[in-house]
Amino acid sequence: MPDVACTLFGGNAQIGGNKILLRDGGIDLFLDFGMNFEANGRYFAEFLSPRGGTSGTYDYLMMGIIPPVSGIYRSDAAVEALDPIGWQEARRKWGEYEAHPTALLLSHAHVDHTGHIAFLDGDIPIVASAVSAQIVKSMQDTAAGGLDTEVAYWRERIDDPDRNRLGYLEKQALAIRRPWLITDYGNWSPAAEALWNHYPGVRGSITGPDPAPFSGKVASLAVRDYPVDHSIPGARAFAIETSAGWVVYTGDLRLHGATGHQTLEFAEAVRELNPVALLCEGTRVSDKPSRPANEDIVRDRSREAVAATDGLVVADFGPRNIERLRIFLDIARDNDRKLVVLARDAHLLRALHASDPSVPLPDPAAGLYVFRDREGATRGWKKDVMERNAGASVNWEDVAAFPGEYLLCLSVYDLTRLIDINPTGGAYIYSTSEPYDLQMELSVERLRSWVRRFNLTLVGDPEIDTPAHSGFHAGGHAPGEDIFKVIEIINPRLLIPIHTLYPDLMAATAAELNIPAHMPEFGVPVPIG
Ligand SMILES: [Zn+2]
Repeated sequence: MPDVACTLFGGNAQIGGNKILLRDGGIDLFLDFGMNFEANGRYFAEFLSPRGGTSGTYDYLMMGIIPPVSGIYRSDAAVEALDPIGWQEARRKWGEYEAHPTALLLSHAHVDHTGHIAFLDGDIPIVASAVSAQIVKSMQDTAAGGLDTEVAYWRERIDDPDRNRLGYLEKQALAIRRPWLITDYGNWSPAAEALWNHYPGVRGSITGPDPAPFSGKVASLAVRDYPVDHSIPGARAFAIETSAGWVVYTGDLRLHGATGHQTLEFAEAVRELNPVALLCEGTRVSDKPSRPANEDIVRDRSREAVAATDGLVVADFGPRNIERLRIFLDIARDNDRKLVVLARDAHLLRALHASDPSVPLPDPAAGLYVFRDREGATRGWKKDVMERNAGASVNWEDVAAFPGEYLLCLSVYDLTRLIDINPTGGAYIYSTSEPYDLQMELSVERLRSWVRRFNLTLVGDPEIDTPAHSGFHAGGHAPGEDIFKVIEIINPRLLIPIHTLYPDLMAATAAELNIPAHMPEFGVPVPIG
């Protein structure tokens, strides 16, 4: 067994779900611990979900959605601690592994990189940018509150053998913050600190350590982080100085966003480290030509579509994509419309604003408002958001009465708002930046039904390849040619293709640059150095 190796428990020949164990002698660390949409979607969908509440991590483990790695899961919900027979069964099926991570390096706050941190031992420190930490906490604040959402902080389950429950949650269970180590602690403002200590949706008290500055070391290994451009702010790539040399992890990245220069600066900087290995994403590497698109094209195409619409305009994009939010805010202003976001998104904007004051907040002067739902504010966090933004909210009845005055930010999961607004025409601009997959295909089919029901025009249908529908979404990931440019600049001694359906294509292209590649397989250590 080599001294330095990395083992993938997700992200091998699949997009997302990165869970990468890097081991150097006796030191373990994880690179991300995301949810694997592919494995999850193979068995589960809406109405058929893992029994997180009373079964701990049992369903996830038995179905191969999380790996049976001994020593990494929270003991209050881990099958290993609570059901040794089930644990052995899972290990027979998926393999026997053990790890004792000193830390987890988090590249960015997309669920396919953060999701299953919820199941990890609450003592494992998470190294992340200030913005990533705030996004993760904000998303948890406004989530439904199951075991699988407990990424920023967690609530201790108790064993309840009488009722055969693996991890039972009492109403007043203590909430415990995970230990977060912030790489850019200079951006951890007093406002960020105040938000971090504010839990409007949690009953009972909160304990756990305050976020601390990251020292630049995990055990004895030096770790550097680099801002990179992606469709969510706060994204980082990492370089780790192992005893075999520097190992570089790209996370997710692109060159074609507003901060694309950061990605190039990262590549130039780590080239100087003479990396022994590069774990590089290849989401958009494919044997088909990529559709050219960037945020400027999205801006122009969306501006035309809004100007040509009389009634309601809905813009569908992840509000965590701040670059896209700014584009639609400009377009709304230019067309005398108010941009309206849901309470959940306003909560997130405030979290982002705390570490990056250039992020816009709801404010009539900025043309940005919060949607006041028909249902009112039933949850603690929502009440908090609506009270805070009382002067910058728009009632659902106003949007229903004057739909042409608004540009409303929704996603396919928020479509019930249309029932209250009841539009009789207008446009639905599909402008999400995430990679297109089977789950999305199903939701787009459903979206078409909603759009027809309310006589809206669907603009930017991802399945229709005509000029009228293209240019409304630019991906968060670099196309193949840009990925190969990054690999060429970094010039590692070994390429490990990850987060891609075409590792062989990445290997073939790297071979042209005289860079050997190693195809990672689930659970099999890739020797480094
Ligand atoms: Zn991502």
